[in-house]
Amino acid sequence: MSIDYKALVEKYGSPLYMYDFDYIENRYVTLKEAFAGKKSLINYAVKANSNLSVIQHLAKLGAGADCVSIGEVYRALDAGVDKYKIIFSGVGKRDDEIEEALKRDILMLNLESEAEMKRVELVAKKLGKEARISIRVNPNIDPQTHPYISTGLHENKFGVEIDMAKRMYIYANKSEHLNPVGIHFHIGSQLTNLDPIRESAMIVADLVRSLKAIKIDIKFFDVGGGIGVVYDDETPIAEQAYVDAIAEATKGLDVTLMCEPGRYMVANAGAFFTKVLYEKINSGKRFVIVDGAMNDLIRPSLYNAYHKIEAPGVEGEKSEADVVGPVCESGDFFGKNVALPPLAHGDIVVVHSAGAYGFTMASNYNTRPKPAEVALQGGEDRLIRRRETYEDQVRLEKEFLR
Ligand SMILES: *Cc1c(COP(=O)(O)O)cnc(C)c1O
Repeated sequence: MSIDYKALVEKYGSPLYMYDFDYIENRYVTLKEAFAGKKSLINYAVKANSNLSVIQHLAKLGAGADCVSIGEVYRALDAGVDKYKIIFSGVGKRDDEIEEALKRDILMLNLESEAEMKRVELVAKKLGKEARISIRVNPNIDPQTHPYISTGLHENKFGVEIDMAKRMYIYANKSEHLNPVGIHFHIGSQLTNLDPIRESAMIVADLVRSLKAIKIDIKFFDVGGGIGVVYDDETPIAEQAYVDAIAEATKGLDVTLMCEPGRYMVANAGAFFTKVLYEKINSGKRFVIVDGAMNDLIRPSLYNAYHKIEAPGVEGEKSEADVVGPVCESGDFFGKNVALPPLAHGDIVVVHSAGAYGFTMASNYNTRPKPAEVALQGGEDRLIRRRETYEDQVRLEKEFLR
């Protein structure tokens, strides 16, 4: 895509998030087409990028939503996602969240413990409802990704073991207030190896077969999210190979295949634009100080994540520099030892692959306003979230001054 960075920053200010909506559409359609001929539902993982316009764009294409808080459920509903395409996951749902989800009649709640199942049953009983549920199974497969974003091993907090899941299904099936309709796993994020997904799908499909044998009819087979993307030189999983592996594992089962991609849909649709403030050299080391910071995009600081960084249109011999922000933390950087030409005040630096877990993890640390967000679609640009002001930030505090 050829993008006029300068014009966008002049129009909307800096720092700025930009998302290419045509790219998002292409991702959705490519994945959906890989499921051709099978019952399938793609539930976009809202936490990757929860801007209402992003969710709406995917909803219009037919996507459902995977939510991990009631706030995300509200976002999905506000953005026009069909309620029967919304699922609610997460290890720690509060009673009020469960109640709201049941009242909104979403497709299902994805349960992560026996204790949570009992809470959901209680809340459903109070409301005189039957809660559609799925259970998150932890298949104990090493996803071969970063330990912070791995979720499918017994040592971490997500899901329940196979035996426990089976006991929970048997309980739920007998309960007047629970209706077990789905099964789910999600083993980690940024997966670039298909084998752990295939193995997990086979283990979970076997559980579905044993449940069907005792008349517990699972209708939704949800393989979670986690499809990796290219930040640097990764080889991503091919969509068709992904779907074929899931289809093979579930052979003979009459289920709707579901997945919950977040990063896959939006990471490389997005870029973060920031302006150069100053250059400086400390003990021979070159620093480029920009007006964006870790509060805007925390992945480099938090996970030591790599993002490709460029200064498009700036000429000159490149040398290595750390690209850092103004926040008062040594961890406030976007990239280390990045080859960049000499930069002047006002030059634009682009941090690529910033569409997922960028804005959604932004904070107001250092009383910095969250950046604006812009969509590009069919050659047009439009604002989808205005830049925060100082007044936006203090609104909930000012009335308490005395
Ligand atoms: C975070 C999450 C996802 C999305 O993960 P990606 O790596 O962005 O695809 C999907 N499902 C669940 C349950 C999650 O917690």
